[in-house]
Amino acid sequence: MLRLPYQVVRGFKMSSVDQSMQLLRNQAYVNGQWVNAQSKAVYPVTNPADDKVITEVPDMDAHDTKAALDAAADAFKTWKKTTAKERSSILRKWYDICMKNSDYLAEIITAEAGKPLAESKGEIVYGSSFLEWFADTARHINGEVIPSPWPNKQIMVTRQPLGVVSIITPWNFPFAMITRKVSALMAAGCTCVIKPAEDTPLSALAAVQLAEEAGVPKGVINVVTASRKNAPNVGQVLCEDPQVGCISFTGSTHVGKILYGMAAKGVKRVSLELGGNAPFIVFPSADMDNALENAMLAKFRNNGQACVGANRFLVHEDVFNKFVTGLKEKIAQKCILGPGSKPGVTCGPLINTAQVNKITGLVDDAVSKGAKLMLGGKVASNIGNKFYESTLLTDVTPKMNIYKEEIFGPVVVCYKFKTEEEVLKIANSTRSGLASYVFTKDLGQAFRMSQELEFGMVGINSGMLSTTEAPFGGIKESGIGREGSKHGAEEYTDIKYTLFSALDK
Ligand code: ADP
Repeated sequence: MLRLPYQVVRGFKMSSVDQSMQLLRNQAYVNGQWVNAQSKAVYPVTNPADDKVITEVPDMDAHDTKAALDAAADAFKTWKKTTAKERSSILRKWYDICMKNSDYLAEIITAEAGKPLAESKGEIVYGSSFLEWFADTARHINGEVIPSPWPNKQIMVTRQPLGVVSIITPWNFPFAMITRKVSALMAAGCTCVIKPAEDTPLSALAAVQLAEEAGVPKGVINVVTASRKNAPNVGQVLCEDPQVGCISFTGSTHVGKILYGMAAKGVKRVSLELGGNAPFIVFPSADMDNALENAMLAKFRNNGQACVGANRFLVHEDVFNKFVTGLKEKIAQKCILGPGSKPGVTCGPLINTAQVNKITGLVDDAVSKGAKLMLGGKVASNIGNKFYESTLLTDVTPKMNIYKEEIFGPVVVCYKFKTEEEVLKIANSTRSGLASYVFTKDLGQAFRMSQELEFGMVGINSGMLSTTEAPFGGIKESGIGREGSKHGAEEYTDIKYTLFSALDK
């Protein structure tokens, strides 16, 4: 384990928390202070692997949220005036500190989100990469000077920070979903209030503790923790308070639509990264070993709990049996179920009982309507009540719920197709449009698929495409806006046009 910077250790309150977790905090963070809810209410955060309480955190409400927004609005007055170089330097420091503390951050992710430790460490590298990227990008948010059609006039276009951003994040990447948004908005000169998912507030609190250490001024980042019961009240203030310029949300399409509706009342900017329904298409010319390796990555990363996770495996009839047999072997070999903290485990628990019930319902419904269970198909109750066996289903038909829904769990569903036209029709027959994956060696086919697939992202011969350098986001009901890349920071700016006139006077 790496040693922590001394400032982080100093002043720690470890009373009711696990002594081994160095970055564990049990208070929210508002205006540079570690605070309780005004009501003093708390709720427990549990480890999904064994249901043990890790700690309790403040169960904040609308009043606490308003106070956090006031702090962010106040901080905006000075943060927006910092130079790009100053913002860049702070983000870079935050990146360095996160990387130094990656082991400590990873153990918190594994404790509250359940994912295997190696994946948690991967999330720290991935999540921190946004801090590094936007440290650079901060210095390249350029404007333009456009030739005017009139003599003695000049057209200047600048990008200005749009103000306070409300952030609501999910539990599946509890660190990276925060850094991806916060680094971009800070680079642009905005401030924020974060409401992390109720299941995973501890990663957010650990991340802001390190932000404080990196010199992020008070009020620039605030974290309001709240239980699911309080989420709608907190969410309403985060969307409707007039001090808010933008709502940046990652989560379900259902909640995204509620937030979008509330944001519309104040004509607020939104950045929405919602559910996916990713097709994973395998053509006969595909390199089968590569397709199988990538199928494992695209499906079993975070045990299937990812919005870009492959949801429908569409396999050409000529290679269907080969693919299904190969995948069955790989799953049996590589999916090792258990608590994320146990060495060798590759698939952790599902996040909560609601997810277990959802996956159980989808698989049971499919099997009862004639789907063929090739592997798995039930809760591994010998390990715990949230461990679902890695599952493989074939013979799935449109009358089964699993055909249409985002599974968000460790269940592979394979369908057979005959022609390119047919597979495009199936792949596009959804209102979701986030990630898609295609395996082919036919160059023309690869181009046609890239063009015709109605998704924000297309991976050709790859099951993993998310990286800080590329624009991440969806179309249709999968969302609005892009994260990462040079476009990520632009989301948090307003374009201002200034006309300089009478230049000869
Ligand atoms: P999931 O189903 O994966 O939990 P959700 O969209 O329900 O995804 O949750 C994502 C985030 O949205 C979490 O932080 C959750 O607390 C928050 N959330 C859920 N319902 C609301 C709501 N009505 N208003 C604001 N935030 C909400």
